[in-house]
Amino acid sequence: MMIVMKETASEDEIAAVVTKVERAGARAHQSKGARVTVIGAIGDVEQDAAVSSLGLEGQPGVDLVVPILKPYKLASSQIRHGERTVLEIEGQKIGGGHFALMAGPCTVESRDQVISTAEVVKEGGAAMLRGGAYKPRTSPYAFQGLGLEGLRLLAEAKERTGLPVVTELMDARDLEPVLEVADVIQVGARNMQNFPLLAEIGRSGRPVLLKRGLSATLEELLMAAEYVLKEGNPNVMLCERGIRTFESSYRTTLDLQAVPVLKELSHLPVVVDPSHSAGRRSLVAPMSLAAAAAGADGIIVEVHPNPDEALCDGPQALLADDFAAYADAVHRAAQLAGQALSSAV
Ligand code: PEP
Ligand code: MN
Repeated sequence: MMIVMKETASEDEIAAVVTKVERAGARAHQSKGARVTVIGAIGDVEQDAAVSSLGLEGQPGVDLVVPILKPYKLASSQIRHGERTVLEIEGQKIGGGHFALMAGPCTVESRDQVISTAEVVKEGGAAMLRGGAYKPRTSPYAFQGLGLEGLRLLAEAKERTGLPVVTELMDARDLEPVLEVADVIQVGARNMQNFPLLAEIGRSGRPVLLKRGLSATLEELLMAAEYVLKEGNPNVMLCERGIRTFESSYRTTLDLQAVPVLKELSHLPVVVDPSHSAGRRSLVAPMSLAAAAAGADGIIVEVHPNPDEALCDGPQALLADDFAAYADAVHRAAQLAGQALSSAV
């Protein structure tokens, strides 16, 4: 259930509603908007019924009591009453009219590689640095990432450039060292439904970039986000990165309709990863422009100083030398779509 308070509701009236909801066994999730406070009463079927029978409609300060119609509650646009979530990551805003370009290598390979790429993407106007230390590889014989050493190099790149870091966590046992470096924890497509991992990241409170699974519906993506939100972590961005279809001319099909649809269904920022969906460089710029024009709140893209020698995903990496022109075009498309630009320069 969702309890919408009146604009004039006092703190005491809000607190009284929260107490009643909690006594009925549900969790009271408060969302304070610019105008009104909305209290989401989140619980199982029985707790929902208990909240419904409280008669909160007559309670002082309460405007409306309405059911939350979607299976995802905290992720639904309904709960924010039309307001969008804006994440602020080390001063870089994303969502609610703010566009952030996140760029960097697929994988941290060496000090030179990650620092030179970080400098290039910063100069080009990126808002954040991406780079994996723990890599989800299809083959167990492929390079799996530098692990702790990769994290250390990311920390150094951050120190040199000031760019906040987005890096993937695959295994909850690595949470502690990842938290020391990551400003945003990436959950990869293959882990989208790793529910214990999502809950653990939820409890950490750290911002999350949650990628859509290769065969996941938008509802499944939003239910995965709900696992993070439910633990009290509101800092989630959703990421479309291509899905499996019958088409085999490219690695996956970038589902750009997901951008406006997710923005209808949810208040969370929506970003697009054109690199992994395409699998090859020539598609990355056109799909990035399309994503920005479609209203994406951000793009996460792979860049490498020498893609021919990359240990992972070289064919899809933008050349570092091309990044500035690419970023400029993407930023213009985002501005056309009405977004304000976040940038670390
Ligand atoms: C990545 O970002 O490097 C990655 C492996 O992405 P995905 O989980 O979308 O395949
Ligand atoms: Mn990659």
